[in-house]
Amino acid sequence: MECSVPAAFHIERRYLERVIGQERAVRFLTELIERDRVPHALLFLGTSGTGAVAAALDFVQALHCQGDAAVACGRCAACHKVTNLNHPDSALLFPFTSRVKEEDRQAALFQVWQSPYHYSLPDDNAAIAIDRVREMQRQFTHSAFAGGWRTTLILHADQMRAEAANAMLKTLEEPPVRSLMILIASHGDALLPTIVSRCQFVKFPALSAQDISVELTARGVDETTADFIARTCGGDLRRALDMTDGHVTDRQDRSFKFLEALLWEQEERTFEALAKLDRQEALDILAGAEIWLRDALLLQCGRGDCIANVAQEVNVGRLAEVFDLDQLAATVKKIESLREMNHRNVNMNLGLISLWRQIRSF
Ligand SMILES: [Zn+2]
Repeated sequence: MECSVPAAFHIERRYLERVIGQERAVRFLTELIERDRVPHALLFLGTSGTGAVAAALDFVQALHCQGDAAVACGRCAACHKVTNLNHPDSALLFPFTSRVKEEDRQAALFQVWQSPYHYSLPDDNAAIAIDRVREMQRQFTHSAFAGGWRTTLILHADQMRAEAANAMLKTLEEPPVRSLMILIASHGDALLPTIVSRCQFVKFPALSAQDISVELTARGVDETTADFIARTCGGDLRRALDMTDGHVTDRQDRSFKFLEALLWEQEERTFEALAKLDRQEALDILAGAEIWLRDALLLQCGRGDCIANVAQEVNVGRLAEVFDLDQLAATVKKIESLREMNHRNVNMNLGLISLWRQIRSF
């Protein structure tokens, strides 16, 4: 008698299924599993938006999976336990503030699993708790419950204070057999050199515009918007998804109006209007201006084929005529530093006004 197998069972899963692009990292990680050369410590250099978190989660799940292949089947008990955060040999460490409620902690970790490119980022003042590090270490002193790997993922490892980092170092210095620790950080600089030196690096650089565009289209974003966002999000899918709120074009238009008013119309009124913007509006104008000025820079460098405001090439051309290359580069640099300052709660209106004054002074 022939038995029918549900269609879902024929779906072939591939390595690190949820990772977009990053062929090099995926190949490297796949080989580690296939050749049974998984080290004790890996440092993923990249952000959630470039896929470092998605890769770490999929890699860990593949290690715990009870299936034969080196790919997480997504169906066995181990796979379910890992994603449900109740696998005894799998720990996920994330920075929280000291007053976080247990239910909020769990909800945040579930969100990381469900949406590894776009979960809510930890607060700036959150940290990897020393208690969690010690708890992980206690678990690591026993042999693995399920007889396989013991894994610890440390997300936003750069938000680990010295006390927790030093405790972590002990495990890295004397790692138990078949144990793996994956640290994820955007830069290695913020970590203890003694930790970094014990890790093998896996880099997750910016994604290509093509990869982002395909992903956005698959998520239902129309092609023109997807293409614009892909060219302007800096290869970071998180940033790209943040931009899909439907106001990208309005934001660009408004931002250009402010530049236009400053450069060709009523200068004083422009400053009055800038002073009245709220914080979010100021950030939007800033983000828009960055794209306009980058486009002007590209046009001056003879790379008109790479500009983001494709439909508004005439306006990009007008901007490119006003500034020289050095002025554009200096302005883009200033915008980048303002964007950095945003994380430190600097008054964005004042930042924007000082930027507009700089542009005016050229
Ligand atoms: Zn499985």
